[in-house]
Amino acid sequence: MAIQLIPSFSELQIVIAEARASGKSVGFVPTMGALHEGHASLMREALIHNDIGIASVFVNPTQFGPNEDFDRYPRTLEADTALLGSLGTHYVYAPAVGDIYPEGRNASEVGLHLRGMDRVLCGASRPGHFNGVMQVVAKLLHQVQPTRAYFGQKDWQQLSILARMVRELFFPVEIVGCPIIREPDGLAMSSRNRYLSAEERQQALFLSAALSAVKKGMAEGAVAADAVAAGLALLPQFPLIKLDYLEIRNESTLESVDVIHAADKPRVFVAAWCGTTRLIDNGGW
Ligand code: AMP
Repeated sequence: MAIQLIPSFSELQIVIAEARASGKSVGFVPTMGALHEGHASLMREALIHNDIGIASVFVNPTQFGPNEDFDRYPRTLEADTALLGSLGTHYVYAPAVGDIYPEGRNASEVGLHLRGMDRVLCGASRPGHFNGVMQVVAKLLHQVQPTRAYFGQKDWQQLSILARMVRELFFPVEIVGCPIIREPDGLAMSSRNRYLSAEERQQALFLSAALSAVKKGMAEGAVAADAVAAGLALLPQFPLIKLDYLEIRNESTLESVDVIHAADKPRVFVAAWCGTTRLIDNGGW
């Protein structure tokens, strides 16, 4: 069956009612579009484990800061639909802003808040970002009512926060985290990579190189700051890079780690500006 575009919540409701009535499992992949192989990997996984695969394409205004790239974020629904269709995806849900924010995007009274996971790493430099992410994902999960929802480990903090939201608020869905898909040279795939000039694209290799350097310095009992220093030492080779953070944190709680112990499940997190483009990456020990 060819992929079907669902352009509104009212049309989605009909599809979801049918799926539930027939007892079919639904695998859901929320995205902001401009799809690449990273998104495709999530959908492939969803299609293996569920009867029906649904992706959403929605550039969520509430997760962008006032000076961020909401307006210039790539919108390529036709190509996205073709890619999803080629994978065997059943539906692409592309709601209008009014389907997600019926009271208006800035007039929401109801939101979700965190006590700390949103104040570190990307949360520190993007205030309100994760509130917007939780808000849109909570709405989408309620609208789509999937059996399983798939998220990339590329956005590890987002995945941890959403897993926590679903666990603490008893959302009836299984959250599945999927591995980071990279370009052959190591750069993590991202919709934002298309902003990079040829020179910036080269310099963007700082992120994966820094992760490797830090991971090399991670040994049981080692001081985390020493391992991080090995990554920071690469910066002079990458003059177009402006570092936001390079840190080792517990992979579940996102609490900072001072001394490396395998039991703390340490993970390295990096974010950097490459020209005007902000990129992130992370890696386990
Ligand atoms: P986005 O469209 O950027 O909001 O991403 C939608 C989903 O795709 C999120 O769960 C991301 O973590 C995931 N994703 C984006 N890039 C990658 C990647 N390179 N590898 C794996 N998952 C990814």
